[in-house]
Amino acid sequence: MCGIIGLTHAVQSAHDVYRGLLMLQHRGQDSAGILSWDAATGMFHSKKQLGKVADVFTATDLDRLKGAMALGHTRYSTIGDVKESDLQPIAGVMPIGIGLVHNGNLSNYAALKQSLLAKGRAFLSDNDLEVILHLMSGAFVSSPTAPLGERLIEAARTVMQRAEGGYSVIGILPGLGLFGFRDPHGIRPLIIGERDEADGRKSYAFASEDAALGFVGYRRVRDVAPGELVWVPSVGDEAEELHSRSLVPRGGLPCMFEWIYFSSADANLESVPVYETRLRLGQLLGARVGAALDPSTIDVVSAVPETSRISAIALAETLQRPYREVLIKNRYVQRSFILNGQDKRQVAVSMKFSVVDSVIAGKTVLLVDDSIVRGTTSRKLVQLLRQHGAARVYLASSCPPIRHPCLYGIDFPDRKDLVAAGRPLDAVAQALDADGVFYTTLADLETALGRPFCAACLTGEYAYGAAA
Ligand code: AMP
Repeated sequence: MCGIIGLTHAVQSAHDVYRGLLMLQHRGQDSAGILSWDAATGMFHSKKQLGKVADVFTATDLDRLKGAMALGHTRYSTIGDVKESDLQPIAGVMPIGIGLVHNGNLSNYAALKQSLLAKGRAFLSDNDLEVILHLMSGAFVSSPTAPLGERLIEAARTVMQRAEGGYSVIGILPGLGLFGFRDPHGIRPLIIGERDEADGRKSYAFASEDAALGFVGYRRVRDVAPGELVWVPSVGDEAEELHSRSLVPRGGLPCMFEWIYFSSADANLESVPVYETRLRLGQLLGARVGAALDPSTIDVVSAVPETSRISAIALAETLQRPYREVLIKNRYVQRSFILNGQDKRQVAVSMKFSVVDSVIAGKTVLLVDDSIVRGTTSRKLVQLLRQHGAARVYLASSCPPIRHPCLYGIDFPDRKDLVAAGRPLDAVAQALDADGVFYTTLADLETALGRPFCAACLTGEYAYGAAA
């Protein structure tokens, strides 16, 4: 998963992109990058590096990243280790100048790369954005005399027809402007924002989340639709305008995990607020717990900080049981999920949290998390609460059981590593050392979201079929 942003028209767009990236940091902490286009010198400028946004860029860097158009990226590596060569944004200068960032994963990446290699293409990275770059470049070559806007439409159409998976792309096309598109099912998010500039004109931006746009002064216009290309000509002094073309729409199936975990609580995706959805999920889960257990037997409801707190408070209210903070998070320890290797992950979980003993001594605790994936976090936390004196520990997950890998950009591993795959709920509780485990049901998730969504990791039904 990653965070992306692109904007135009500011005198020095890199500064605004930097501020937007700070608001997208939760979508990826492995690396950060900015690419700007400087029309005055006809140059792309870029800086990308492993590390967090605030550590990667200095004020001098941002001054050096000249130009009115810029793209930014925060990376969370879905597959394998993070290599310098895989960092984004990327730029191509042949046969046409183009700068790109993306968020997502191509499920037919290997097949596409093979077919491009067979045509004599070469690669500098293992990043699937490079496949998108090749597909777009090929389309630009095939119609060299058509107007640039027409060639961009063909390039985006080619990607959507050939690339399967979840992907949102933002790009700079020097000579035309800024553009953004989403895969035919709109699995990964992409929002358009508009801003009134000091000279009275409007300018536009794209980003993974509207909260990041708001931070840089843009109002939310709308989501880019599934299979839609949107572009903003912004060359010379012309007023910027949004242009759009629906290219390969196949029905919207945005990833449900954006609402459950990934997006910031103040974001709105597809006009469905993340905060309200998390509240609703907590209420529905509370009703399920209340139907299975006598609520008075639960002494304390608590959250695994931070994402699940909204649902946990709503769940406690529904059960009319006290909500308390039981786990204190050390915010300086690296996020456990991103570490490679199960051992490292387990150590990280125990370093990440300390326990407020006085709240749980001799008590029955219901611990709410947004999701249980491998079960590493839950298992460790149940053990930790028991060591600190809890009499009983129940777990509740606001995401339904994850039983299938994600092919579209979230690091949900092989079935064999997913604790809920092939196990009935009491066996999951046993594997997690808990006295019981409760999950949101798929039906409750449908109620909470009130719209169709990609649930491949829950059902095994993939929008593009199984991986190529
Ligand atoms: P696990 O420990 O493997 O069961 O993962 C579940 C925990 O990791 C929960 O506390 C989630 O908040 C968090 N989590 C779930 N999915 C992701 C993800 N894709 N990236 C980072 N953290 C995640």
